[in-house]
Amino acid sequence: MKDCLFCKIVAKEIPAEIVYETGRTLAFRDIDPKAPTHVLVIPKEHHADAAALAEADDGLTDEVLKTAHAVAVLDQVAESGYRVVFNTGPAAGQTVFHTHAHVLGGRDLTWPPG
Ligand code: IMP
Repeated sequence: MKDCLFCKIVAKEIPAEIVYETGRTLAFRDIDPKAPTHVLVIPKEHHADAAALAEADDGLTDEVLKTAHAVAVLDQVAESGYRVVFNTGPAAGQTVFHTHAHVLGGRDLTWPPG
């Protein structure tokens, strides 16, 4: 989608540190990491948020979650534990409206989040 930051990363118009890729998903490091592992997993096709992705789902939500787990294994945080977060909508703090799963790990994560 024109003017979507993450669509531009998919199109390689904006650089990103890509850590994993499948046919329909892309995982790249967050530009402003909040933990030693902070990777964003996106569907390559544009869906504004997790609700839109779930409603359109044809297996793509599964693939995003499987990619998140693959990233955790690659970054060696799967055994100690990691968090997968979809901020969905402005009140949840979503700022980029191309849905993305934050994969966070590599330190003790507190609960509840702010
Ligand atoms: P949100 O607040 O849940 O929408 O998360 C958006 C995330 O995208 C934030 O953690 C930002 O640091 C991250 N971000 C914004 N621009 C870029 C970029 O160009 N590359 C990688 N991460 C980005």
